Amino acid sequence: MDIDYASIKEWQEELYKDLHRHPELSFEEERTASIIDEQLAGLGYTVQRVGGGVVGVLENGDGPTVLFRADMDGLPVAEDSGLDYSSENPGVMHACGHDSHIACGLGAARILAEHRDDWVGTHIALFQPAEEIGGGAQAMVEDGLVEKLPKPDVALGQHVMPGVAGTVSTVAGPSMSEAVSLKVTVHGKGSHGSMPQLGVDPVVLASSIVLKLQTIVAREISPSDFGVVTVGSIRGGSKSNVIPDRAELLLNIRTYDSEVHHTILAAIKRIVEGECAAAGSPKPPTFEEYDHFPPTNNDAAVTETVTAAFRAHFGDGRTLVQAPSTGSEDFSNIPNAWGIPYLYWTFGGFEADADPIPNHNPKFAPIMQPTLQTGTEAAVVGVLAYLGK
Ligand code: ZN
Ligand code: ZN
Repeated sequence: MDIDYASIKEWQEELYKDLHRHPELSFEEERTASIIDEQLAGLGYTVQRVGGGVVGVLENGDGPTVLFRADMDGLPVAEDSGLDYSSENPGVMHACGHDSHIACGLGAARILAEHRDDWVGTHIALFQPAEEIGGGAQAMVEDGLVEKLPKPDVALGQHVMPGVAGTVSTVAGPSMSEAVSLKVTVHGKGSHGSMPQLGVDPVVLASSIVLKLQTIVAREISPSDFGVVTVGSIRGGSKSNVIPDRAELLLNIRTYDSEVHHTILAAIKRIVEGECAAAGSPKPPTFEEYDHFPPTNNDAAVTETVTAAFRAHFGDGRTLVQAPSTGSEDFSNIPNAWGIPYLYWTFGGFEADADPIPNHNPKFAPIMQPTLQTGTEAAVVGVLAYLGK
């Protein structure tokens, strides 16, 4: 199949720059969704709005159905990239590259719409909101995604990363971690700082908990398993001579394996409750989970099929093996809603000799080319691995 990717370059770069200039926060992607809606409709896709996202379906004869997903949200980051198409929305930035995901997703939709003779089946172009807070994919599922769409045979997605532009990377099995945040509140008994014997000090209690939590990964998880327990925030009290009556800890937990995930959560609960009992805490602690991201566990057969197609298209030198990331994604909530296999790969966005600037950094600025063309080709090649004639 002969595709001239350069033919969409001008249109795609303008689209990308416009998206970059107008980032929107999670669940506020209204302008972005309208642009996507309009573009997909113009290409002949049947468009639906689902749970704050946009879905286009292009039926092109009897064959498999492939879903390709992109995310749409920006971040509360003040841009400092120096790009002449920097954000015009103060304090909000496409600092994770989701604008490139949209541009590549729409680019792939356009290529597929313009080459209908070369493939058969159904392409679903899905654009989800609110990836950054782990809620967008689930919102689409809860708004009836499964009932509103034909069931895909396979789901695909991709993320731009601080790697070399022009390369794509895949790995079978765990590729992104499961993550959950936890708010733990422990209770003490307030007192004057001069009379500690009349109170129960939750600051001392919380301090002891922080250190004890660090024994979970070190002593309860196998050295061959992956786990991270981070206490990112500890808050209690307001004044040097007041013993407060409570303290609050904000925790973040990362794992690849769900058994390890549950072991860590159980250990946290046990340690916090044990420390509270030891301190004579007057009230049981409370635990509140939030920002839950599912694990991303790439299907072996899909990874093999798509990676082989990447090798044939990009060559071995541009098709790399992805090191499993400790970051997280909510993508898998979409294929999991149907129980279908999936692959989530990464593509590079930077010069080979560039200083690596991570996603979410105010200077995160992937170079437009060959990044956009590579992400577009990868999306098309991935879909055609199933739908190509
Ligand atoms: Zn991000
Ligand atoms: Zn992202």
